[in-house]
Amino acid sequence: SLEQGPEGPETPIQVVLRVRPMSAAELRRGEQSAVHCSGTRTLQVSPPGGGPDVAFRFGAVLDGARTQEDVFRASGVRRLGELALRGFSCTVFTFGQTGSGKTYTLTGPPPQGEGVPVPPSLAGIMQRTFAWLLDRVQHLGAPVTLHASYLEIYNEQVLDLLSLGSPRPLPVRWNKTRGFYVEQLRVVEFGSLGALMELLQMGLSRRRSSAHTLNQASSRSHALLTLHIRRQTDDGVETKSRPSPDPPGPADASRGSRGTPGWREAVLCGPGWQREGGATGSRGELMLEANSINRSLLALGHCISLLLDPRRKQSHIPFRDSKLTKLLADSLGGRGVTLMVACVSPSAQCLPETLSTLRYASRAQ
Ligand code: ADP
Repeated sequence: SLEQGPEGPETPIQVVLRVRPMSAAELRRGEQSAVHCSGTRTLQVSPPGGGPDVAFRFGAVLDGARTQEDVFRASGVRRLGELALRGFSCTVFTFGQTGSGKTYTLTGPPPQGEGVPVPPSLAGIMQRTFAWLLDRVQHLGAPVTLHASYLEIYNEQVLDLLSLGSPRPLPVRWNKTRGFYVEQLRVVEFGSLGALMELLQMGLSRRRSSAHTLNQASSRSHALLTLHIRRQTDDGVETKSRPSPDPPGPADASRGSRGTPGWREAVLCGPGWQREGGATGSRGELMLEANSINRSLLALGHCISLLLDPRRKQSHIPFRDSKLTKLLADSLGGRGVTLMVACVSPSAQCLPETLSTLRYASRAQ
């Protein structure tokens, strides 16, 4: 578990790894598993054709036998929720090749048919976190207001999935008080889990009906569902100001909770994020998508490695290199925590993609 002391985040970026079970199709094809867990933090990878195993260590490693509840507990998401309630910006994102279990991990399996509810035991990190958060808020006593926004980054364009009209690209701007923000993004207040789930469904159906349904099997976009939490602090004074994330403070004790009394505003995001392995086809549009996925991926990887470099001190972090890194700047390098859930298939057939996910994820911690 990544649970930490009450003082605040010790590491800005936490990485856990989930290996999904072999699928029925993989088993039917007689595919072999190329990975196995050793202890709770290490994954051993057996290279094809022999040779010594390669070991990767993470904050937690969860194999195919672990349940959705196990993943929720071991990944320390509740800790992120606590931090968000105290004014930190927190982000949870999943990462891995198509079919590796990102959607399952974040939101659970798809319903088995019209009107057939998904059993609560299969609910993903997202529903569990939201249910937990709403419960915590009820028991807090102090007034908390919750708003949600939901956007999609597609070909380096930001689309508002909750907009009242049809989504059109919105500009990402920066100013001293707000940091990076999306201009005219619709932010909707909600008071219950049901209301939040309706917003999520609305956004999801928007995503499905947008241009890239051309390739429904893998929507090549980043979707960011953000919860904006405003909480009244002891003296009841409302302050909406937030420190500038550009340039961010160093990733150390100064990342502590905002000193200003009054209202605190924090965000908790859950983008579903994926990288594509291999070729994506020859059509112009798909290539453009692949390029912008790569651009986000590279920009994010670059920012993360600079943030974690102990020699970096005050060096410049290029959050401006992509829309995704701009919008995650506060969680990554300002005053927040980012939890990456890297997802892989156990199958030896997927080993090249699995290795690239593992390398990327282990560089990020
Ligand atoms: P991705 O979002 O990465 O493309 P999915 O989450 O859609 O992948 O997972 C691919 C398939 O594997 C889906 O049918 C999903 O229900 C199944 N799956 C993924 N992870 C698990 C798991 N931990 N247990 C059981 N089935 C899973």
